[in-house]
Amino acid sequence: MKYKDFKKEFHGYCRRCINERLGIHYVHKDCEYWEFPETCVKCGEVKNIVVGIRFFSRMKMWKVKDLQPQEKQNKNARKS
Ligand SMILES: [Zn+2]
Repeated sequence: MKYKDFKKEFHGYCRRCINERLGIHYVHKDCEYWEFPETCVKCGEVKNIVVGIRFFSRMKMWKVKDLQPQEKQNKNARKS
């Protein structure tokens, strides 16, 4: 997955939700965050929201071909 697409797809996500959907393991130092904790758009918990991935950590996502499946509502939206 390209970093450009990542930024679109994971806007407002916390690191845990990003790791879940990408199927990889970013640690705290791989990511850049909002200054203050915010509500994650995916899990709805107040978390440190990822705003970027550090340059040398982006290689991990380049290897990701397919995202983990989204929740039901999104699957249905894709069909209709
Ligand atoms: Zn989350």
